[in-house]
Amino acid sequence: MLEYRSSRGRAPSLGFPDVLLTGLAPDGGLYLPASWPALGDGDGDYATLATEVMWPFVADTIPHDDFAAMVESAYSTFDHPDVAPLVQIDEHHHLLELFHGPTLAFKDVALQLVGRLFDYELRRRQDRVMIVGATSGDTGSAAMEAVRDSDLVDIVVLYPHGRTSDVQRRQMTTLGAANVHAVAVEGTFDDCQDLVKAMFADEAFRDRNRLSAVNSINWARVMAQIVYYVWAAQRLDRRTTPTTFCVPTGNFGNVFAGHVAAAMGLPVERFLVASNRNDILTRLIERGEMVADDVVPTLSPSMDIQISSNLERLLFELLDGNGPATAELLQQFRSSGRAALTTAQHARLRDEFSGARLDDDETLEVIARMHRYHGMLLDPHTAVGVGAAARLRRPEETVVTLSTAHPAKFPDAVEQATGVRPALPPHLADLFDRDERFVVLPNDLATIEDFVDGVRR
Ligand SMILES: *Cc1c(COP(=O)(O)O)cnc(C)c1O
Repeated sequence: MLEYRSSRGRAPSLGFPDVLLTGLAPDGGLYLPASWPALGDGDGDYATLATEVMWPFVADTIPHDDFAAMVESAYSTFDHPDVAPLVQIDEHHHLLELFHGPTLAFKDVALQLVGRLFDYELRRRQDRVMIVGATSGDTGSAAMEAVRDSDLVDIVVLYPHGRTSDVQRRQMTTLGAANVHAVAVEGTFDDCQDLVKAMFADEAFRDRNRLSAVNSINWARVMAQIVYYVWAAQRLDRRTTPTTFCVPTGNFGNVFAGHVAAAMGLPVERFLVASNRNDILTRLIERGEMVADDVVPTLSPSMDIQISSNLERLLFELLDGNGPATAELLQQFRSSGRAALTTAQHARLRDEFSGARLDDDETLEVIARMHRYHGMLLDPHTAVGVGAAARLRRPEETVVTLSTAHPAKFPDAVEQATGVRPALPPHLADLFDRDERFVVLPNDLATIEDFVDGVRR
């Protein structure tokens, strides 16, 4: 059985099922496997490859057939036979479309599986949980959609009242499932996040509700995202020649999964880390120093993040698996807003990652250009990726840019750039006719906790 250890080195090692349900380690760190398993040869359809790639991470904690059945079921919810189809833009540049799941963003790739894993493990333990989360848009609906059929999971998602797009809000408020609750908080996304943190810090409340989370630091989410890097390479017949991947980035979870695929033996030339104006990662790669800055709202809201939670896993790797040193670096960053890598660590970072940032005008230009010359509609997150790839790629370098959302999820930006309003896919075509169910609550911990206590089944 593969053991998982904390990036801060002061928590007990755990097996996969506990890592799945625990999320954050008790020392505040993030779990990683103690070693990287090697990739197999790979073959077959997406679900078959996914089972093969992920199996070493769960082996001996779940029967193989049960795991394969969950993977098969998770990806049967996608509306494209390839699950993650590749679309060629030009001779050396491809898009990997990760938005064919139920909520139209790449979060479904991980959360459809994680929802099933939660349900399976809770059934085995005869236990249940209450998932609470805060969302600025995409994660909330993907998590709600992933657990909507579970008898053992309740979910309450807080979002800032009036600050999500209509599509995003309706995806959270129209599910019509008894265990799924959308709460519009009279406050900002940061207020929502603070409320969630406060709920977890309230021990009595946490214990009586059996609180849990499925946020982007959950190892199982990273694990599920490794698969499509291998899938893309396989489809392009590049399992032995290196490929460059360009990843639009917020919490660094998606690109870290690519790093794991490379650590497992996938030939990767380098990763292009694409940011919007919230560019702490671009600056880290350029200068070897993390410097905190204020979050500015952009057209790609799911990347409006300054402190990328999953970066901790990469720092742990750059610090040669030294947990206490990782904890110290992060502590320094938290207290002073600034932390520097050594010259050697910075060199290793630059070896594997290059970064570029796009502002909103540049993002709109990319959307317009891709529409004009290729007849394609890109969502603004994907456009940041395509723009970064255009800026950073070398001649002859084969690049796969991850397309993280369907254009119809962000119709205003797409229409602004192209004059075309993208249509929702068939399974969501009646989204604006469905009944909404949500409550509006003040930014007040006691009120929110009362609500959660009241909806627990
Ligand atoms: C979440 C999200 C991202 C950023 O992914 P990270 O794993 O946080 O880096 C990019 N694009 C879209 C559409 C997203 O929903």
